[in-house]
Amino acid sequence: EMNGDVQVHLEGVPAEVLRQVEVCLQPFKLSENQLKEVTSWLKRDMNHGLRKHRHKNAAVKMLPTFVRATPDGTERGDFLALDLGGTNLRVLHVSVGQELQRVVTMDSQICEIPQNIMLGTGEQLFDHLAQCLSTFLDTKPSLKGKTLPLGFTFSFPCEQKEIDKSILIRWTKGFNCSGVEGHDVVQLLRDAVLRRGEYDIGSIAMVNDTVGTMMSCGYGDQSCEIGMIIGTGTNACYMEEMKNVKRVEGEDGRMCINTEWGGFGDDGALSSIQTETDRQVDRKSLNPGVHIFEKMISGMYLGEVVRLVLVKLTQQKLLFDGQLSPDLLSQGKFETRFISEIEQEDVGLDKAQVILTELGLKASPVDCQLVRLVCDTLSTRSAQLCAAALATIAKRIRKNRGLDHLKTTVGVDGTVYKKHPNFSKMLQDTVKVLAPKCDIKLLISEDGSGKGAAMVTAVAQRLARQSRL
Ligand code: BGC
Ligand code: MG
Repeated sequence: EMNGDVQVHLEGVPAEVLRQVEVCLQPFKLSENQLKEVTSWLKRDMNHGLRKHRHKNAAVKMLPTFVRATPDGTERGDFLALDLGGTNLRVLHVSVGQELQRVVTMDSQICEIPQNIMLGTGEQLFDHLAQCLSTFLDTKPSLKGKTLPLGFTFSFPCEQKEIDKSILIRWTKGFNCSGVEGHDVVQLLRDAVLRRGEYDIGSIAMVNDTVGTMMSCGYGDQSCEIGMIIGTGTNACYMEEMKNVKRVEGEDGRMCINTEWGGFGDDGALSSIQTETDRQVDRKSLNPGVHIFEKMISGMYLGEVVRLVLVKLTQQKLLFDGQLSPDLLSQGKFETRFISEIEQEDVGLDKAQVILTELGLKASPVDCQLVRLVCDTLSTRSAQLCAAALATIAKRIRKNRGLDHLKTTVGVDGTVYKKHPNFSKMLQDTVKVLAPKCDIKLLISEDGSGKGAAMVTAVAQRLARQSRL
């Protein structure tokens, strides 16, 4: 059974109220046929993105990453990694292969990124990155003079020219720094380090977080050829045949493609499944018209979709006796993590009571159950849309290789996927229905995006070493 219709048990909810709530939720429920359509639209749009000339206007960008091989397990060395994700910045010291043949984070540090920097100038942002790196190196005298190679995880769509030349196409999620779009972020980082004048950095390899996640899983499981993030934003990458990557010279071997599936729908492809609420979330975002698929799925927006549905139900007097609160009316106040808490199996309804009370709402037990039904509907849609996209990639890999049956592993990261009680199950059940000939194992990657950036550097060194032999 695919529809996630493990119905929330609705005790004591008057039938007529439930009926009206269901009417309001109906547009968010996707049938198997609709999901199959999503799969076929994405298949078409991935093809556009890979082509040489269609590419410029493609909604799904299909960006070459210049990562041509996954790990073979023989990589070795010490690396620094800098991971700029959706909400914060991490610096890591990563050791590959020395200890128990594993990728190990030796030490790491998180730096907050204040909102004024997320929305400030590019120079401020990169100075902040350089400063964070400097503070980290200060606590590690053993690393200071060493100029280790640096893996730079930069989780935004970039047109990569080489592994160390990467031009930001546009900001997404909560970032909007001036003077960075259209520029090489590796150079901006180097400039900031030079401005500081305190330390040197060695070679830099730039990777998307999806690529990092795939590469870090790939060290232990060599069939890991897909990386997926469902966190603040959403995206996936996979290993494509070079002969299909028309924008990069060469026919042999494979290259990892960063799909940027968050942009799916930016040309209107998803308009038949977008609801009025989705359009409202888009209009009020930092980047209207952009990343339509992402806005139906990821953590930056999911809470907001739920909030707007709750407002609508309250206005229709189906919730909270028709009484709104200032918090319920404020953008961003219903956080995505509330959804995961409210959907927890045993304690969820109690959590709902606490959360709604803190939002200034008078919630009855019936209200709590209805709010949980709303959360369940939206997280189910998110998981099923991700599943449709993942199924599209898996089917593509299977066809590429001429296989009857594909067995593959996906490295996954992101708070929505990891924190929600049954997101992963809903996603996997749906993939099974949509891609029956693919047997997909999902592997959670710990620290993937940071460690993986180090892995990319390590694999590049291994390939260079082998080509010298
Ligand atoms: C970005 C991707 C990134 C994803 C997950 C999206 O908004 O465009 O590059 O991989 O978020 O962090
Ligand atoms: Mg991340």
